[in-house]
Amino acid sequence: MVNEAAVTGFKASLRGDVVQPGDPGYDEARKVYNGMIDRRPRLIVRCADTADVITAVNFGREQKILVAVRGGGHNAGGLGVCDDGLVIDLARLKYVHVDPVKKTVRCGGGSTWAEVDHATHAYGLAVPSGIIGTTGVGGLTLGGGIGHLTRQCGLTIDNLREVEMVLADGRVVTASAKQNPDLFWAVRGGGGNFGVVTSFLFKAHPIHTDYAGPMFWPLEDTAEVLRWYRAFITKAPNNINGFFAVLTVPPGPPFPPEIQNKKVCGIVWCYTGPAKDAEKVFKPIRAFRKPILDFVGPIPHPALQGMFDPIFPPGLQWYWKADFVRELSDAAIALHAEHGAKMPTWQSTMHLYPINGAAAKVKNNATPWAYRDAVWAQVMVGVDPDPANKEKLVTWARDYFNALHPHSAGGAYVNFMMDEGDDRIRATYGKNYARLAKIKKRYDPKNLFRVNQNIKPA
Ligand SMILES: Cc1cc2nc3c(=O)[nH]c(=O)nc-3n(C[C@H](O)[C@H](O)[C@H](O)COP(=O)(O)OP(=O)(O)OC[C@H]3O[C@@H](n4cnc5c(N)ncnc54)[C@H](O)[C@@H]3O)c2cc1C
Repeated sequence: MVNEAAVTGFKASLRGDVVQPGDPGYDEARKVYNGMIDRRPRLIVRCADTADVITAVNFGREQKILVAVRGGGHNAGGLGVCDDGLVIDLARLKYVHVDPVKKTVRCGGGSTWAEVDHATHAYGLAVPSGIIGTTGVGGLTLGGGIGHLTRQCGLTIDNLREVEMVLADGRVVTASAKQNPDLFWAVRGGGGNFGVVTSFLFKAHPIHTDYAGPMFWPLEDTAEVLRWYRAFITKAPNNINGFFAVLTVPPGPPFPPEIQNKKVCGIVWCYTGPAKDAEKVFKPIRAFRKPILDFVGPIPHPALQGMFDPIFPPGLQWYWKADFVRELSDAAIALHAEHGAKMPTWQSTMHLYPINGAAAKVKNNATPWAYRDAVWAQVMVGVDPDPANKEKLVTWARDYFNALHPHSAGGAYVNFMMDEGDDRIRATYGKNYARLAKIKKRYDPKNLFRVNQNIKPA
C-alpha cells in the first residue's frame, strides 16, 4: 500500500503530474500500444524533466512499490506498464537536437522514431531505427534496434554514443565509451534493466532519399522467392537491406483492387547506395521473377520509415513469437510456405529481418547482443483489432513458431519477445548474461527495474 501523505508530497515536488485510478484520463494514460494488455497501475507519473524522473525513482524505491518505465509504450508484452505499481511515463521528455557538424543527434528518453526522423531529415541525416514511426526510441534502442538500415549502418545500439541515466539509487550518470563504460556496454542491448535513460546521443548518417519500398509475389511462390532471397541477401553489398515477409495485401488504396486482401510473400527493400546505380542494382532482382506489385523507387527516408504506420494504428491485439536464425534450410523454407499460408487475419504477418552486413561486423561480446553471427531475426505476429480473435492469433503464431523453432539459433531478439521466462532470456544473452548480471548487481542490486526482460543481479 502506498502512503497517501507520501503521494501528496510526491505530487507537490513534481513539474509533471500524477494520474491515479478514478482520475479523468486514467484509462487513456494506462493504455499501451498492444490492445491485449490491460493493466491498472496505482500511480502514473508523467515526468516533465530529469528532475521528475529522479523524484519518481526515489519515490518508487522508498515506497517499495513495483516500478515500470514507459518510453513509447510499444512493447509487445506491455513492459511499459504494470498492475498496482508506479509507471514512470517519459512521453513528455521529447526533444530532438541535431548537430549537423558532428553528425550527431540528441533526443529525450520519451521521443519516438517518427520525431527523430522528422528532425534529422531536414539536415539530410538519419539514425538507424525500426520500421514503425510510433515506436519509442527508449525501448527499441535499449533492446538493440533492427530496421531498414541494419545492413548499411548496423543496429541502433551500434550508433549509440552516450546516454544520460537515472540509476536505482536516484543518481544521474552519463554512460559512454569513456564514462561508466561497463554501464554503456550493458545498455546496448540489456534493455531497461540498469536505469531510466533520460537522453540518448546517436551518430547519424548522411541518408536523405532511399531507393526503397515493397515488392510482392504470389503466395504460391513463397518457397521459390525465399530460396532466391537466401542466396541474395547473404552475399549482397551492405548498401542494400531487404526484409522478407508473408503478409496480406492491405484492403485499400494505393494497392491495386485485384490484389487487395490477397495473401502474398514480399520483400521490403531499402537501397542507400548511389542513386544513379539504383536501377542497375534492382535489374537482377526484378528479372529473377516478375513481382505482382513493385512499389520500389526513390522515397524520402522518413516516408519509408512511416510507410506501415497507417496499417498498424495503436490499440490492435498483438501476439508475438520470435527467434534468431543462422541458416534458412530448405526444410525451414517449406515450413514458412505452409504456415505463412494460414495467416489468420490480414494484419498478421511473418518477417525475417537480415542482421548480417554492418550489424555482423560487431563481435558477439562487444555489446550484450549475443547473436551477431545469426543472419536473421525472425518474428511471427498475429494482429487484429478484435479481441474475440485473440485465440486465433495466438494459435497461429505459436504453431508457426513451434514448427520453425527447431531450425533456429536458440535465443530471440528481446524486443520481439513477450513474457517467455528466465531460460529464454538467458538463451538470448548467451555468454553475455553473466557479465550483465554482474553489472546489474552493481547498479541495481535490489532489482528495482524489473518490469523488463529481467536480468537478475548476480
Ligand atoms: C508495431 C511494432 C513494430 C516494431 N518494429 C520494430 C522494428 O522494426 N525494429 C525493432 O528493433 N523493434 C521493433 N519493435 C519492437 C520494439 O523495439 C519494442 O516493442 C520496444 O520495446 C519498444 O520500445 P518503447 O519505448 O516503445 O516501449 P515501452 O513499452 O515503453 O518500453 C519497453 C521496455 O523498454 C523500457 N524502456 C523504454 N524506454 C526507456 C527508457 N528511456 N529508459 C529505460 N527503460 C526504458 C521499458 O521499461 C520496457 O521494459 C516493434 C514493435 C511494434 C509494436
